[in-house]
Amino acid sequence: MAMWNPWRGCHKYSEGCQFCYIHKGDKRRGIDTNQIIKTDNFMSPIEKNKKGEYKIKSGQVVYLCFSSDFLLEDADDWRMECWRMIKERSDLHFIFLTKRIERFEACIPDDWGSGYENVTVGCTIENQSRADERLSIFKKLPIIHKNVICQPLIEEIDIVKYLDDVELVVVGGESDKNARSLDYNWVLSLRQQCIQTKTNFEFRQCGTHFIKDGKQFKLNVRQLCAQARKAGIDFKVEQI
Ligand code: SF4
Repeated sequence: MAMWNPWRGCHKYSEGCQFCYIHKGDKRRGIDTNQIIKTDNFMSPIEKNKKGEYKIKSGQVVYLCFSSDFLLEDADDWRMECWRMIKERSDLHFIFLTKRIERFEACIPDDWGSGYENVTVGCTIENQSRADERLSIFKKLPIIHKNVICQPLIEEIDIVKYLDDVELVVVGGESDKNARSLDYNWVLSLRQQCIQTKTNFEFRQCGTHFIKDGKQFKLNVRQLCAQARKAGIDFKVEQI
């Protein structure tokens, strides 16, 4: 696994951005998140060592733009260079998430065709209106590997009609002392929608404020992923 952040910074865009961890971390360090800058790692997928070998070894999953949004408008002049590197490194698999899926078609390279085999796109949603808005677009896009990221999930959602060609649905709650609660019933509902449509499902993290069986719990940040794993409700299509 490798990280590749060709630029940093982002602008809050929708309800799910309220407690964005990038903005929170930058605020602590006195950095203006709204200033979008190219990083020193811009070329990292094609950087080589003294032996002429790529520094990022073949076969890895590369998490792309996890300190920004890959489809951010501010990065329009830089993205084509990234696609060129992604194409050159067809031996790696790149994953990026976006809340700006409506920009996708304006952001892809001319030779995208039905999609690059080595790219997974995760469409992030947080509530029913964003799910309807974004997934109705996502469903029609030429992307070979599609994930839906319901994180932070802030209300119960029904996305069953959008899951036809989705490989994985990920669910998670919000992390912050003022976070909106995550109700376990919403998680179970999404799991059921995935079972019904034969879609992989992963419960990735609880919320700081978590409701189970009508009771409200407060979890610390270290418990969020551990408790979700402990629930043991992930669903893999091979199971059936
Ligand atoms: S789109 Fe993502 S990275 Fe950008 S502000 Fe929202 S949550 Fe943060």
